[in-house]
Amino acid sequence: ICICISQNRRDKELQTKLESYRSVSNKNQVLKMDTNGLPVPASTNSVLKNPINVPEKLLMGPGPSNCSPRVLESLSLPVLGHMHKEFFQVLDEIKIGLQYVFQTSNKWTLAISGPGHTGMEAALVNILEPGDTVVVGKTGIWGARVADLVVRLGGVAQTIDKPLGQVVTLTDVVDSLQKHRPKILFLVHSESSTGIMQPLEGIGEICRSYGTLLVVDTVASLGGVPFSVDLLKIDVCYSGSQKVLGAPPGLSPITFGPRAVECVKSRTSPIKSYILDMNFLSNYWDCNGGEPRGYHHTPPVNLLYGLREGLAMISSEKLENVWERHALCAKRLQDGLQNMGLELFIEEPASRLPTVNTVKIPPGVDWKFVTQHAMEKHLIEIAGGLGPTVGLVWRIGVMGYNAYPGKVDRVLEALKEALEFGKLQGRL
Ligand code: PMP
Repeated sequence: ICICISQNRRDKELQTKLESYRSVSNKNQVLKMDTNGLPVPASTNSVLKNPINVPEKLLMGPGPSNCSPRVLESLSLPVLGHMHKEFFQVLDEIKIGLQYVFQTSNKWTLAISGPGHTGMEAALVNILEPGDTVVVGKTGIWGARVADLVVRLGGVAQTIDKPLGQVVTLTDVVDSLQKHRPKILFLVHSESSTGIMQPLEGIGEICRSYGTLLVVDTVASLGGVPFSVDLLKIDVCYSGSQKVLGAPPGLSPITFGPRAVECVKSRTSPIKSYILDMNFLSNYWDCNGGEPRGYHHTPPVNLLYGLREGLAMISSEKLENVWERHALCAKRLQDGLQNMGLELFIEEPASRLPTVNTVKIPPGVDWKFVTQHAMEKHLIEIAGGLGPTVGLVWRIGVMGYNAYPGKVDRVLEALKEALEFGKLQGRL
């Protein structure tokens, strides 16, 4: 009897819910009913009936870059459970690949679930406690964003503000550390909004002498330029999967050195994020030497296959060759741009980021018309500026699977044609 009554009650509740759906549907004309009387959003009839269809574009902006067929194929492998032994093996292989591209022996080296911003947040949230001071090198949009994040996390941000296109110098660092005695110095290695590459030599030593942790953003450079976390004495470094590493967006490789691990372990306040807590993540990724792996969250399993394959391709080509390929392709692009009469935004060749190249927009040129034309006519992405460089530059990426001469030539041709077409149309 009891079962019957509760069944009746459930039926009635369902009936009431359906009635309320129906009245919403009648009012808004949004929901339709299927043959069982269950609601179906009207739009699904038209938009979801066919398989997904996306165009093939050449992504020569600042990222994401195109993935290789090998990476794309790996994405459609069967989904494994995140606690399956075969998947743990994939994670172990990724860890080794990441230690290789970061050039580090750090045990806490893994991929955070989420894009580059998640790596940025993970780097800070684990080592920053309320009231801590962070000196942030502001050479473009990313430093500005980190200064904002520091404040959100309860820290105090002191910025080293540089004019667009200039890097933070050793003197800037010493002056700022002397003045603020910060817990953390944050620098952007690859400022993708301006196309500048921050030199890092000597900064790690200075930080150590002040007891400051050095955190570096390499989202737009890791794998594409000579770099070593260990040699540069960087304490925390993060990147993104979708640029030089050649995987889809959605993962952020990160590494914590011994001083940073010690800092996490000796915190007096809890880490203000559960999902980014490196104590749990290092356990799940088996970075702590043999403790049983525990469930923390379900990572994007198939994206991790893609990252595994991207790293495998870098490892079989060898990192030094990948760096050289990026340097040669960036040079080819920069020469081609200058031969077209265009000027590069970063004057000093040694300060140019090979992976994200910035080109000055000539006076009177409608930059959006050019990027739109390249996209519509050639299906090639050339990006405009970002943050402080909007309207000043175009940004052309040379990263990962796109750092090959043929692709560089295609983007040069598309840009040339767009500029010529614009002139004919009287738009430039
Ligand atoms: N830092 C830098 C230097 C970047 O170029 C980017 C992405 N363009 C990010 C951080 C943020 O990465 P994501 O968009 O993957 O969150």
